[in-house]
Amino acid sequence: MAPKNLKQMRSQLDKINLQLLELLSERARIVQAIGREKEKQGVPRFDPVRERDMLDELVASNKGPFSHETVRHLFKQIFQASLTLQQEEHIKHLLVSRKKRREDTIVQLDGIAIGDGKPVLIAGPCSVESLEQVRQVASVLKQTGISVMRGGAFKPRTSPYDFQGLGVEGLKILKEAGSEFGLKTISEIVDPSHIPLACDYIDVIQIGARNMQNFELLKAAGDVRKPILLKRGLAATLDEFLHAAEYIVSRGNTQVMLIERGIRTYEKATRNTLDISAVPILKQESHLPVLVDVTHSTGRKDIMAACAKAALAAGADGIMVEVHPDPATALSDAAQQLNFEEFARFLAEVKKSGLL
Ligand code: PEP
Ligand code: MN
Repeated sequence: MAPKNLKQMRSQLDKINLQLLELLSERARIVQAIGREKEKQGVPRFDPVRERDMLDELVASNKGPFSHETVRHLFKQIFQASLTLQQEEHIKHLLVSRKKRREDTIVQLDGIAIGDGKPVLIAGPCSVESLEQVRQVASVLKQTGISVMRGGAFKPRTSPYDFQGLGVEGLKILKEAGSEFGLKTISEIVDPSHIPLACDYIDVIQIGARNMQNFELLKAAGDVRKPILLKRGLAATLDEFLHAAEYIVSRGNTQVMLIERGIRTYEKATRNTLDISAVPILKQESHLPVLVDVTHSTGRKDIMAACAKAALAAGADGIMVEVHPDPATALSDAAQQLNFEEFARFLAEVKKSGLL
């Protein structure tokens, strides 16, 4: 049994712990109020000069027994926790946040709803190469009961010597094939000045991974009233992803969909690392529909169906997959596009799960 004075000292500590907690909580409430004021005034939440001044003052008043270094360390932890608190408060106020709007955003494409609980499949070639190529894909999609077709006209390629896409001509091809087969179309736009023009040709504007933080492009996308499919950047955190979506929504375009497409990690087994956890996290944090691109994330045909099922099981509102009539001759992503037979197998396997 502990001697009486040890017990007493421990009970003294317990009391001090509670007093510290009370003081910390009081401090945190003031921090929250400061955060709201900073937001109103548009000043940054992190103020390094103020933080240094506070630490200097604390060290100057320190009479021990803690060393100055320890005092700095302890208070830095408190400051860091306070900053996080202000950031959490701030995220609650983002328009894309679930805290701001509880109900799911449902993106409407003339009768096709994305985000209403019934997942959609978006398929099509990596690049629009010719009218005939797109017509062949459109015909297969139509037969399979798929209503949304993708196809890249402006291709953001790693090498400037690779096929860059047919540009506006490609958008015209998508429009023609889309209306012939009654399909909605999606295509990536890379230049802010092309956004209004794209509205005449396609039903959804895609903003690609490389452009997730192209803020001028995001602003231009926010200024039109066309659904936007925003891809997660190659090295973007979910917080950065949501802020990118906020750029669009804050300008009045509320029809935004998020799509996880894999992120860069050290893993070489897949083209990118599909971050499945992004799906439930984004669904929790935001009311926007969340989709998963199984082609660019995995880059592997052999695991695409499994990853699509995983994405749907995690709550994804849709899947994107690349399909080409003859992938071996494709002008981009030849190795990972499914031919029609592979696509049929993919679809059958995903459907067998009952998730699609
Ligand atoms: C695409 O979908 O055509 C594409 C280029 O994807 P990402 O931007 O995700 O690389
Ligand atoms: Mn591609």
